[in-house]
Amino acid sequence: MELWKNCWNCGHDTPQERVALEFFPRILEMFSKKDDGKVNQRAWSVFYDSYLFAKCRKCSAPSLFVDEYWTQTTSTEESKLISEEVKANGVSKSGNLVHSLNYPAFSKNPFPQWTHDLEETYMVLFWEVYQATALGLNSLAMMGIRTIVDKYASDKIGDIGGFEKKLNALLESKIVSSDQHALLKVVVDAGSASAHRGYKPSNKHLKSCLQIIEHLISVEKFGDVINEIKQATPKRTHNN
Ligand SMILES: [Zn+2]
Repeated sequence: MELWKNCWNCGHDTPQERVALEFFPRILEMFSKKDDGKVNQRAWSVFYDSYLFAKCRKCSAPSLFVDEYWTQTTSTEESKLISEEVKANGVSKSGNLVHSLNYPAFSKNPFPQWTHDLEETYMVLFWEVYQATALGLNSLAMMGIRTIVDKYASDKIGDIGGFEKKLNALLESKIVSSDQHALLKVVVDAGSASAHRGYKPSNKHLKSCLQIIEHLISVEKFGDVINEIKQATPKRTHNN
């Protein structure tokens, strides 16, 4: 069976040549917490990880793929089955796959081109949000998104107080529409929940919040271009 994995160089799934495959069991300490935040109970769990070193058949780029399987028992039968399935299909169907990593995680264009033209503070904030998103640090990314909204509001109407005040001022000054105001309120509330109440947004919700502020900030960038187009567009004479 042909092995298909994501190639960082091609940027999509490609057939891969298996160079080496190793398995290694790993013991991990887990714990539950009490209401007061202190550790309640500790337990040990066994993970059975597969390490696949492979080479893309299209571009020859090498990658390491690590799949972490959580085993229900400590019996060797379970880990044996996982290794057999991974050897045959590249993945174990009966194993409980909890996490997959691949190295390197290079990207040809990690940050959208339009962010390169942003004022440096915005650019750095966006880039850190993209990096946190890529690493699965959703709460941190969400807090970063809220910071971008904060900076945007302060730049437009000054540092006049809390988020509610700032968002209302943006609306009253007609800098944002009532639809945008409602969206920004959702984004800020989600960011505050991450900052103060331990909210970890799902990938889907994080992506939606990111898109909302990408639209808001990227429109700004077109301000100069819009003025140029306005200047260059011949004025209407009659009703044409
Ligand atoms: Zn490739």
